[in-house]
Amino acid sequence: LCYNAGMHDRTSQALPTLPSREHDSHKGSFGRVLLVGGSRGMAGSISLSGMATLRSGAGLVTVATPRCVQPTVASFSPNYMTVALWDDEIDGTLSARADEVVVELASKVDVVAIGPGIGRASPAMYLVERLYQQLPCPMVVDADGLNALAELPKALNRPAGPRILTPHPGEYARLMQTTAGTSDASRVKAAVAMAERDPAGQTVVVLKGAGTVVADSQQYAVNATGNPGMATGGSGDVLTGIVAAMLAQGLEAWPAARLAVHVHGLAGDLAADKLGQVSLVASDLLDYLPAAFQSLA
Ligand code: AMP
Ligand code: MG
Repeated sequence: LCYNAGMHDRTSQALPTLPSREHDSHKGSFGRVLLVGGSRGMAGSISLSGMATLRSGAGLVTVATPRCVQPTVASFSPNYMTVALWDDEIDGTLSARADEVVVELASKVDVVAIGPGIGRASPAMYLVERLYQQLPCPMVVDADGLNALAELPKALNRPAGPRILTPHPGEYARLMQTTAGTSDASRVKAAVAMAERDPAGQTVVVLKGAGTVVADSQQYAVNATGNPGMATGGSGDVLTGIVAAMLAQGLEAWPAARLAVHVHGLAGDLAADKLGQVSLVASDLLDYLPAAFQSLA
């Protein structure tokens, strides 16, 4: 599975680790995260991401979401803050009037994650494209955030900072206009090809599925945790939050993505052991994140 001269297979190497928590650390030590997403009927997705970010150790989490769903998102958890953004009253998605507020909020955090539940209306798509090309801090892009990038030719060539993209095979195909294939070899090749669109080499691609591939232009790994019980709505939204939290705690993009994918699958495996694959739902992954992190130690 060696695609370029010098391309490293990290699959069997030791996992990255989180920095240990100093006794005099405070919430700022573990990073501030802004999550942007949700829309009417899709309040759960960005809430799952928000709760996953907290369960994965980030210090402060703010969820910015359209005004029509902000009370719902807030009611899912007392642990994160929420911001109500201007929305379109008819379709319940972000309005272009929300842009400046989001840009301002984004300038004050360590990590931004965008996309879960954000929908495919134009103002939200423009916002994703703008942040992708302007924001210097690490940014996780998932779900309809990826579909937004698919609308803008060469968007992947112009990231303003480290980017972690988390497509499932459908999102991958829309962005790259070709399928990722199903064998490990073709999925690795596909993930590397997407990462290589970034001339600065700061983009990490997480191509999801059985044996999720994590790749940048230098290295890749095929993840060994996870199970088909995780093929359930909202499962990917949890991963988005875990990646954001790893970045917030100071990991670079590749180790952050690699560790997040491992822990996400491990939480799924622990949940499936207790609950079975049939009944597993995305919020169960949140409940098993503590055990997953504890088993790493
Ligand atoms: P999404 O489609 O965005 O909700 O993401 C689904 C999540 O569940 C990804 O992290 C996938 O890797 C994981 N997943 C789905 N199906 C499987 C499977 N058969 N084996 C392992 N993980 C899976
Ligand atoms: Mg998804």
